[in-house]
Amino acid sequence: MKICNESVVAIYYTLTNEAGEKLDASGDEPLVYLHGGGNLIKGLEEALEGKQAGESFQAVIEPALAYGEINPQWIQKVSRDLLSNIEDLQVGMELQSKTEDGQVHSLTVEEIDDETVTVNANHPLAGETLHFDILIESVRKATEEEIAHGHVH
Ligand code: ZN
Repeated sequence: MKICNESVVAIYYTLTNEAGEKLDASGDEPLVYLHGGGNLIKGLEEALEGKQAGESFQAVIEPALAYGEINPQWIQKVSRDLLSNIEDLQVGMELQSKTEDGQVHSLTVEEIDDETVTVNANHPLAGETLHFDILIESVRKATEEEIAHGHVH
């Protein structure tokens, strides 16, 4: 069957960036996901739509259909005092911040100087054009329960 909404799809993938560096891969076991449920980035779901088990292909996905462009407003300097409770603060560290409405955001520490710390709330893959190598292992129809839950069992 062809991949459409409410298909359960198993894929092997390798993800590289524009420079050809490997960012992620499925490993020995395929990634199994429910198609049309927003479980993959938009561009990858679009590329998989209508394909069948056994097909392999490459997809190049622009930031807008992947993790979005980098928003410069989400890169901010904060006073180092505000982070004084964090032990061993280092560049590259991931911090969690909770907003007033209770949403949790991940921040990456970009820079530390005597007075301030620069934190970046953009997704680590924001602004990246993603290159996927895909092999579709299997496609089946989702069960009623999987559709109701929005994920694969
Ligand atoms: Zn469930």
